[in-house]
Amino acid sequence: MYAQVLYQPRSRLRAAELPVPEPGARQVLIEVAACGVCRTDLHVADGELTQPKLPLVLGHEIVGRIVRRGAEVEEFAIGERVGVPWLGWSCGECAWCRRGQENLCAEARFTGYQLDGGYAEYALADARYCFRIPDGYDDAEAAPLLCAGLIGYRALRLAGDARRIGLYGFGAAAHILAQLCVQQGREVYAFVRPGDAAAAAFARALGAVWRGASDDAPPTELDAALIFAPVGALVPQALRAVARGGTVVCAGIHMSDIPAFPYAWLWGERSVCSVANLTRADGVEFFAAIARHPVRSQVQKYTLAQANAALEDLRAGRLQGAAVLLPH
Ligand SMILES: [Zn+2]
Ligand SMILES: [Zn+2]
Repeated sequence: MYAQVLYQPRSRLRAAELPVPEPGARQVLIEVAACGVCRTDLHVADGELTQPKLPLVLGHEIVGRIVRRGAEVEEFAIGERVGVPWLGWSCGECAWCRRGQENLCAEARFTGYQLDGGYAEYALADARYCFRIPDGYDDAEAAPLLCAGLIGYRALRLAGDARRIGLYGFGAAAHILAQLCVQQGREVYAFVRPGDAAAAAFARALGAVWRGASDDAPPTELDAALIFAPVGALVPQALRAVARGGTVVCAGIHMSDIPAFPYAWLWGERSVCSVANLTRADGVEFFAAIARHPVRSQVQKYTLAQANAALEDLRAGRLQGAAVLLPH
């Protein structure tokens, strides 16, 4: 099969012919129809996430159809369309796994990081960590739901029943989440990079009641702020924007250092927390939610051979919506 492979961090991906992998007992072999390009892929390729399998096939927003399955797979049939997210495996036995926090399992393995991912014509996945994707979403637009959508949803869950929600960094995750929030009757306040008129217009089109620069004060105090940009300096800014009792959720896997700030900005039972990937329950809930409240993901399509170009466009901020690789 054709694949784009990372041989060493901080080097470009290289095209390779690899054998089509054989599914183990709990695995399915998926013919990849689309694979999203996530900012985490850049963090892996750049060596900022330091434990990758090498050589590695990146990609953890996989949509495809099952072409073979292991002897113990009962969840899915041959030919069924599934999505594969970042969380690819967990031990099932530790304290975190047993209370449904398998995202915090110390033994967890991640797709496109410790397990080969979807920048290839075929991918293996453990069937227990795959999701059914609702009808009404085509393959390419479904791909970003697998990470940007899911992480956004987990971040929103951590914000509880917050009604006024600030979204910092209006990229792939925020543009999906904003649509869900609006349909749930929440108010979305979009914080974009200063001067980014296109992002502000995009946020407005998706129903944000207010658009501003990341260092602007919103017109009213927020119940929660979700930060999707990997910028630690946004944490104190977001704390100043939330009301007493409000929550600031950091949704990225990597963030620059958070600058010191006065305790008064945290005072009043404001809290700061992080989101670590996803649980399977999040995935089931998220896909049920977007079957009820349809969201549209804006995608920019690339062939698999253009994987390096897609990564560079993401790095340079040239994308509106999400980059998706189409292997066929
Ligand atoms: Zn575990
Ligand atoms: Zn991701």
